[in-house]
Amino acid sequence: MLAAKDTRPDLADLDLPALEALFAREGFPRFRARQVFGWIYRRGQTEFAAMTNLGGELRTQLAHRFQITTPRLTHEDRSTDGTRKFLFELRDGRRIEAVYIPDTPKQTFCISSQVGCAMDCDFCLTGKMGFLRNLTPAEIAGQVRVLATATGLAGTSFNIVLMGMGEPLHNYEAVMTSIRILADAQGMAVAPRRITLSTVGLIPAMERLAQEEIMPNLAVSLHATTDEQRDRLVPINRKYPLAALVETCKRFPMKRRHRITFEYVLLEGINDTPDDARRLVRLLTDVKAKVNLLPLNAAPGIPYERPSDARVDRFARLLAERGLRVSVRKSRGRDIRAACGQLIVDGQKKTSAGRLADAMAT
Ligand code: SAH
Repeated sequence: MLAAKDTRPDLADLDLPALEALFAREGFPRFRARQVFGWIYRRGQTEFAAMTNLGGELRTQLAHRFQITTPRLTHEDRSTDGTRKFLFELRDGRRIEAVYIPDTPKQTFCISSQVGCAMDCDFCLTGKMGFLRNLTPAEIAGQVRVLATATGLAGTSFNIVLMGMGEPLHNYEAVMTSIRILADAQGMAVAPRRITLSTVGLIPAMERLAQEEIMPNLAVSLHATTDEQRDRLVPINRKYPLAALVETCKRFPMKRRHRITFEYVLLEGINDTPDDARRLVRLLTDVKAKVNLLPLNAAPGIPYERPSDARVDRFARLLAERGLRVSVRKSRGRDIRAACGQLIVDGQKKTSAGRLADAMAT
């Protein structure tokens, strides 16, 4: 039997100002909103009945009118290197993944922003799933709540990277609401400088981001140094080409000493030659940049090879010698398919008949 859909508004979709406004509209005192927010994000408590400082009657009323949802953790894999991959099942049966990467040098949670992805980058497995749907703020911020509890890191300081499944700027509103929720001093109070948003370079959304009050660090997936090359690897380049993207990065407001991270996946023989390195240096002249090299995590169905360590070193050295800041991302959790570009949940692309059969079987 299909359960009747719960249509009560989900308080986990709201940042604190929106929660306060909702409470005010419903005739509840404003400070109650802060209390509820604190229960969810400081204490990890989502049952109204357990929110003991609210008073019995209010708890009953809240439970009647609202719900607080949390993505359901259904499976966990542990890598030999300590990385842990979490599989979540969402209320519509869709599944997403998030990753905990220990000591890099800080503890890091890598979370998803969409089910699948529409960007279709040529070397990324998530792209092969296609785009299924956007995540809600409850589903995005909820991943952090669950990971913080599962890893015992609730109440400590950790990094969050929006580098899981999906293109975060393609789900702008929900992602920004989640960032406000996570950063709020009344809740988890994750400092915005501990949050990094990685994008393929959706220029209008980047321009919007530039106006935000709470601003995460920015990482841009560059991956190529000519439009011809990038059109093929990162198809959105046909709409937002390199020169315009770099121009947007130059204008992006940044605090002193801050830099945009440019991610550059290294594909053997494709974009890892000395000429590529020199073009990359030229492209990023006048940009406050650091480059993060990602040697490809190869996978079946991905038509590229990972370069040897020697080639990676040569590329990194060419950048460093010309004054670019450069780091090589250590690939973590490859044995459990938790590394960059490897997040994919099998069997989600179903015909509607298949989905119906599944729904009727539960
Ligand atoms: N959609 C966003 C967020 C994903 S972040 C973005 O593209 O920036 C994940 C990073 O891993 C991106 O830089 C992505 O291009 C990179 N990546 C994707 N597939 C990869 C692979 N197979 N090996 C290494 N890095 C990969």
